[in-house]
Amino acid sequence: MKPVTHVLSYSGGKDSTALYLLGIEIAERWASRRGQTIRVVFADTGNEHPETLDYVRDLPRRSGGPAIEWVRADFTADFARKRHYVAEHWPADGVPDSIVSQALEVLAEPTGIPFLDLCLLKGRFPSRRAQFCTSELKVIPITEQIILPLLESGLAVFSWQGIRAEESPERATKPRIQSVGGGLWIWRPLHAWTIDRVFAIHRRHGIEPNPLYRQGMHRVGCMPCINCRKDELREIARRFPDHIDKIAAWEAIASQASKRGATTFFHKENASGDRSAEEIFAGANVRQAVAWAMTSRGGKQLDMLRMHEPLPVCSSAYGLCE
Ligand code: SF4
Repeated sequence: MKPVTHVLSYSGGKDSTALYLLGIEIAERWASRRGQTIRVVFADTGNEHPETLDYVRDLPRRSGGPAIEWVRADFTADFARKRHYVAEHWPADGVPDSIVSQALEVLAEPTGIPFLDLCLLKGRFPSRRAQFCTSELKVIPITEQIILPLLESGLAVFSWQGIRAEESPERATKPRIQSVGGGLWIWRPLHAWTIDRVFAIHRRHGIEPNPLYRQGMHRVGCMPCINCRKDELREIARRFPDHIDKIAAWEAIASQASKRGATTFFHKENASGDRSAEEIFAGANVRQAVAWAMTSRGGKQLDMLRMHEPLPVCSSAYGLCE
């Protein structure tokens, strides 16, 4: 058996904190005895709440657990390719010169904010049906920067994922342990855990969950997440209006990289292709979404936010987005 490194994907949420605390307990029981090591990795999307970042930074000190390594997606090389593509292909596709020019200008160099840079490259924000954010901002950086180098150095890797079966029918179908090949295994040690067990391990270690839960947040990943529900958006707008201002600013910037000249954070899945950029933006920008979230009316005005359905969990199997 090859030497093993355990890689815990950490997000700052309650499940991944339970995973981290379980890692401490398991490490104490057997990892050091067998010469196995644990590494913990947090993928910073550039769209997290500062309290989550502080929580992640401080957890090793408060818990006595392993250091948390941070990774960030870097799209510098992709920007050069995208500029070339826009200059070559957009005019031939009939895109007006003014839109081509503004795209080339905004794509001159990355902002250094992974979430925004990804949206600039795509010319749009992610959506439920095109949720490229999880893979591009979390899965790929963790895989490329942490897991692949370990595998290439001859180690076996157990990638720990903090998903639970009771979160969704889709997650319930995931095996507890799974071989990916090439020395990589996926391990989901919380698969059978209840939410009570998640909070119990927090108490056992004297660790409070991320403080954002006490401030009305149901999830603590991106602030906001594109999967945000109506009541969550209302709470974010009430408590953290600066995060709405941030998204409004990002909408203005990302719109400059859009072929249509406009894109909105909350994607309207049924927006028809013949609507003008102004119509799309006027009807569904983040300020409109917030105004709607403040009402008690139904979903006629905006249908991109769900009203009462259970909290959607990230469709990825990785449990990297809460
Ligand atoms: S938390 Fe939401 S917006 Fe952020 S990467 Fe995950 S799915 Fe995308």
